[in-house]
Amino acid sequence: MTTEIYLDSNATSVVLPAAIAAAADAMGQRYGNPSSTHATGLQAKVILDDARACATRLLGVGSGRLMFNSGATEGIQTSVLSALVALRERKNAGAAIGSLLVYGATEHKAVPESLAHWNRLLGLNLALHKLPVNPDGTHHLNALRDVAGDAAMVCTMAANNETGVISDLSGIEAVLAASGSKAYWMVDCVQGLGKLKLDLSSTRIDYAPFSGHKLYAPKGIGMLYVRAGTPFTPLIMGGGQEGGQRSGTENMAGIAALGAVLAALERGDTFRTSAELCSFRARLADSLRAALPGIVFNNPFDKALPTTLNFSVPGLSSRELMDVFDAAEVRVSAGSACSSSKAAPSYVLDAMGLPLWRSAGAIRMSFGPLADEATIAAACARIERCGAALRASCLIPSERTAVPHDGLLQLGVEGACSWMMLDAASRSCIVIDPLPDHTARIESYVRCQNYQVQAIVSTLPNAGRGMLIDALGRHFNRNTDADQYGWPQTATAVTLEDGATVGAIRLGAHVLACVPCGAGDELRAYLLGDTQDNRLPATAVRFAFSARPAQQSLRTVSVEQTLLCPTRDEKNQFCTSMCAEPEAMQAADLQLNSATLDAFLQAHPDARLVDVREPYEFAATMSSAFAGRVAQSVPLSRLAEYASEWLRHEPTPLVFICRSGNRSMKAAQCLRRLGHRQAYSLNGGLALASTMPLAA
Ligand code: PLP
Repeated sequence: MTTEIYLDSNATSVVLPAAIAAAADAMGQRYGNPSSTHATGLQAKVILDDARACATRLLGVGSGRLMFNSGATEGIQTSVLSALVALRERKNAGAAIGSLLVYGATEHKAVPESLAHWNRLLGLNLALHKLPVNPDGTHHLNALRDVAGDAAMVCTMAANNETGVISDLSGIEAVLAASGSKAYWMVDCVQGLGKLKLDLSSTRIDYAPFSGHKLYAPKGIGMLYVRAGTPFTPLIMGGGQEGGQRSGTENMAGIAALGAVLAALERGDTFRTSAELCSFRARLADSLRAALPGIVFNNPFDKALPTTLNFSVPGLSSRELMDVFDAAEVRVSAGSACSSSKAAPSYVLDAMGLPLWRSAGAIRMSFGPLADEATIAAACARIERCGAALRASCLIPSERTAVPHDGLLQLGVEGACSWMMLDAASRSCIVIDPLPDHTARIESYVRCQNYQVQAIVSTLPNAGRGMLIDALGRHFNRNTDADQYGWPQTATAVTLEDGATVGAIRLGAHVLACVPCGAGDELRAYLLGDTQDNRLPATAVRFAFSARPAQQSLRTVSVEQTLLCPTRDEKNQFCTSMCAEPEAMQAADLQLNSATLDAFLQAHPDARLVDVREPYEFAATMSSAFAGRVAQSVPLSRLAEYASEWLRHEPTPLVFICRSGNRSMKAAQCLRRLGHRQAYSLNGGLALASTMPLAA
């Protein structure tokens, strides 16, 4: 078992042991309802009172209110509701209230969403106004100056969750004061708790929401500060708890845990100093620079919390970076939403004016003030391991030539595929249907392994090849005459099954034959196989590439073993065949889970365990042994190549594994569709294998 290194504290943190103990006490010994007047209730009430008193001192609540709630989203909600109800009352009384609801462009989504929601529900019809930020991520004070006089409410944050950039709250306050603004001011303090000195009642801040789980308390507990005299409307009415400000029996376990964290903060004996945290950040940044050449940091360290690093690496997507870190059991997060293969850019980095590749490829690495030397040292070692894994896979420039790849490779983006056939012995390759999106990847692959590209061919006429040709430089002989499909004039010939003689390119022991097809021969299909003499019989054809419809174009190769490699693959089939099942099998029929896997492997000693993650993930993995077996690495991009082998040895069971069970399911479905009856996927993937976090 390896240990995970958790560097995603801006998303949530581990729970402080003292907080777990306090929560257990509140559930075990002091389980009473703090509203009860008997002794059991009074014992519970002490927890509540102590936690509130501690928060009041620590945050400088003064004569303001501090209530416990479920977290910052509720706190933001309550603040917005309170301000907007007050604005509506003032408006109905004939007062001028301003026309704008101003919020920082980098606020958490909970802010604009709440503003829009309550503005609509309360029928206020004020205009939402996004306040721009400077390139360093701080609020644009001149832009605020321009609108402050007309602002009904202003929402800014203490520190940003993606970048850690610290807001100039005094500057904002000065602008609001100078404009004579009567706007209500909410400051989202979620990321500031325990990291920034807050003395709330000495400021003009009206509302300040907090979430416990960003600082070592559990999820589902938060606080809201409301300045003395600032209007307040409860969001939840009921039994009158929290002085009638937030009804519902209190989350006593959460409050006890948060109280323990606040007490530790107040004592000052548990968390690291800012200087120590800065030195941790510097060490992580140095390791990242060494491991990932060209890395750029997206947050200015001198204006950000020392606990947040946000970076992008040229040529690498946030998905790839996330995957390699996750394989090395370093938990980080994408700076942007990246559920699909193409990540959506981060609106925070967009607002800072960063180019798309940086905002779409960003990674956030964040730790908390509990971080220790050992964890940072271990993280630096894992970062180095990730860099080595990416270099070995040619994803980042490498000094040494990588071990050359051999065989068929599929590159896919959103349903479209490019294919490469590589021959390690001759260090040469052929590219089929290259997509512009894959230019950089093909180029780095070819350069890093020092391959010579023999031909760049396409299944459709006049498909653009120029970009790739330019990028390949000396690795492609651009003087070779080729037709409008990229097919070289120097091609030789082979004879097919039906006696037709067609053009062919030799690649080591392999041959790529070109078959005109389509109604007026306007399409091309390519057949790839191993031939002897000058014949390529149907049984020797292993792969066929064609623009649709494959069935029409490939009548000469309708044998079971030939895999059809599509140029479009919206359904993630990877490859198919003439006799493939049209429908994928039900997922449940292909799944093994951790409980059934052992028994399955024991019953099938010949079963192959196949890890379908990318090679850099496999290389970064802390252990390739799983369930007592060493897994073979076959990424999805190589599935077609291996499927053709596995189908020949069909009785051998295949168990696919990956990080979460998604990719392995696709692989199992592909093999089943192709006729393999014993292909399975490990449900839930490696992520469900138990790990023990190192707290950071
Ligand atoms: N505000 C900021 C800056 C945050 O980082 C978060 C959580 O990511 C929230 C608000 C919402 O907090 P919660 O989901 O705990 O309600």
